[in-house]
Amino acid sequence: MIKKLIIGSFLIAAFSSGVSAREIALTFDDAPTPDSALMTGAERTDKLIGALQSVGVKDVMFFVKADYIHDENRKRLLKFADAGFHLANHSYSHRSAAQIAHDDYLSDVYRAHLLINDLPNFLPFHRFPYLHAGKDQTSVDYLQQELKAMGYRDGYVTVDNFDWLISSLLTKAVEEKKKVDLDKARDFYVQTLIRSIEFYDAIAQKTLKRSPRHVLLLHENDAAALFVDDLVIELRKQGWTIVSPQKAYQDKIAKTYPKTPFQKQGRVAAIAASKGVPESELRHESENEMTLTEAFNAAGIAE
Ligand SMILES: [Zn+2]
Repeated sequence: MIKKLIIGSFLIAAFSSGVSAREIALTFDDAPTPDSALMTGAERTDKLIGALQSVGVKDVMFFVKADYIHDENRKRLLKFADAGFHLANHSYSHRSAAQIAHDDYLSDVYRAHLLINDLPNFLPFHRFPYLHAGKDQTSVDYLQQELKAMGYRDGYVTVDNFDWLISSLLTKAVEEKKKVDLDKARDFYVQTLIRSIEFYDAIAQKTLKRSPRHVLLLHENDAAALFVDDLVIELRKQGWTIVSPQKAYQDKIAKTYPKTPFQKQGRVAAIAASKGVPESELRHESENEMTLTEAFNAAGIAE
């Protein structure tokens, strides 16, 4: 009986691994971000490269906000490329495609293109700032078609989250000369991100009946520089494999641009919305400034 049960659970494990590959790629937006109270931009880049290499992550993608580039910062992008990581386009001035005219948005992307397309390890992927893909369906369709004509592939994410808020709360605490408990901050960052990943994976399993190769949205920020290695270690503990963004973008969902203007929660949520799942069910509870700030304060990270 016991033997049967064990065999049974092996079969279940084998079956679930078929529908749940648990593969995820890491991507970092807004590079090269400016200096902060915690570290200079140059330090951030070095720490991030060191952290990724220390846990054997061979490839990630940095979505460049091109108006951050000046001579010194350009060197940081070259360092990422030199470490084997890839660079992609996150527009020049980071404006919302839902709020400006189509052609203004496209010129902004092209302006960035001219500054980054000859950098080593540049790949023609484009990611919308704020994940705003357009103000309505016509606008989403038009921008998609024009970006494709420019030679770009869509740098979608499948897991949205507020890593940027955690990082900014942490940096603010340092600015305010508060005593910061980095171990608590690390746990908070890792656990919040893991919960978001599991949330969007559960939506995928329900909607697609499988776990796609995920693309995690992160930012080139202080929290990532300090904790991304711990995040990778925890993900692996929970059965995830880190894959390259290029591999993740080979997933079938890369070809499914869902017919919905609801793109700002990422591709998995957009597919679910296009199949009738209410938008209110497609946003993790931590993607709320007030809720996340209260949780950060309650965690005793900064005193
Ligand atoms: Zn951004």
